[in-house]
Amino acid sequence: MMAAQQTATWRGELRYDEPMAAHCSWRTGGRARRYYRPADLDDLCRFLGDLEPQEPLLWLGLGSNLLVRDGGFAGTVIATLGTLNLLEWLDERTLRAGSGVTCSKVARLTAQAGLVGAEFLAGIPGTLGGALAMNAGAFGGETWQCVEAVETVTRSGRVQTRLPSDYRIGYRSVQGPLDEWFVTACLRLEHGDAQTAQARIRALLLRRSETQPTREPSCGSTFRNPPGDYAARLIEAAGLKGALIGGARVSEKHANFIINTGTATAADIEALIMRIQERVEQDSGVRLETEVRIVGEEAT
Ligand SMILES: Cc1cc2nc3c(=O)[nH]c(=O)nc-3n(C[C@H](O)[C@H](O)[C@H](O)COP(=O)(O)OP(=O)(O)OC[C@H]3O[C@@H](n4cnc5c(N)ncnc54)[C@H](O)[C@@H]3O)c2cc1C
Repeated sequence: MMAAQQTATWRGELRYDEPMAAHCSWRTGGRARRYYRPADLDDLCRFLGDLEPQEPLLWLGLGSNLLVRDGGFAGTVIATLGTLNLLEWLDERTLRAGSGVTCSKVARLTAQAGLVGAEFLAGIPGTLGGALAMNAGAFGGETWQCVEAVETVTRSGRVQTRLPSDYRIGYRSVQGPLDEWFVTACLRLEHGDAQTAQARIRALLLRRSETQPTREPSCGSTFRNPPGDYAARLIEAAGLKGALIGGARVSEKHANFIINTGTATAADIEALIMRIQERVEQDSGVRLETEVRIVGEEAT
């Protein structure tokens, strides 16, 4: 493992036994054995280079799509929020942004600059890194539609440029080289009108708050929509709106959202996920797949 004297060369913040409930929008989950918030990209590269090659790594943005089981994560969490926060214009249509920048900031900045195509990011409560990993999308827009290139870092701390053609990109799915994580992205957008783009952001946020329980702890849509249908419709049709296990409840406002009513454990949420999958399959023959990422160990 990392030698004690090496910590002197890191400038970030290393914590042990960190409660992941504090970093995940479901506000529940176990602890991470180690949690590192790098000072910047150079510091991150040095930290990664010092890790044992087999150390399990979990990259964390805003934790808005992540369930860490109650037994926690036996490895190192790398937290990017507010630290990999580069923002620079490469030309008047191309923004280079760090993976720890929030999606809402990217949407706001690009709209202000009179660019269109990234407004949909406004209501996604995650980081750019999380959006790249998930190909997050909403209202017809998807993250990778505007990606020109990304930079990734390897497990040994080497940074390299990758192109969209290096990835297989689908609906909420991105498959690419193993053991590489996003550190920046170049987003190329179309010229448009700043006021129109800003009005579109306001309209999308309003529509979201009317249709989604945005003020309650959740991870947004729990399941991916199956081809040609909506997970929320299937869950509602199976009579599961309001279904409760422990402190986890299927939202009455949007059936694809699972809410932490205040006392939910990660096990409650996972049990509700499995109940939904079983009931929906019995009811409609469709096996729903999770959109949320579930990691870590069950509590013993
Ligand atoms: C109220 C609400 C509404 C939502 N609405 C939407 C929506 O409309 N559309 C949508 O697509 N999603 C939506 N989501 C889900 C979520 O916000 C997105 O999936 C978002 O992209 C996750 O970003 P994050 O930074 O929170 O990622 P995290 O939850 O921290 O991580 C998600 C996954 O990405 C990986 N990851 C994180 N950062 C990196 C990185 N730098 N490099 C490589 N991998 C990384 C993590 O390891 C994990 O596997 C919603 C969530 C909530 C709570």
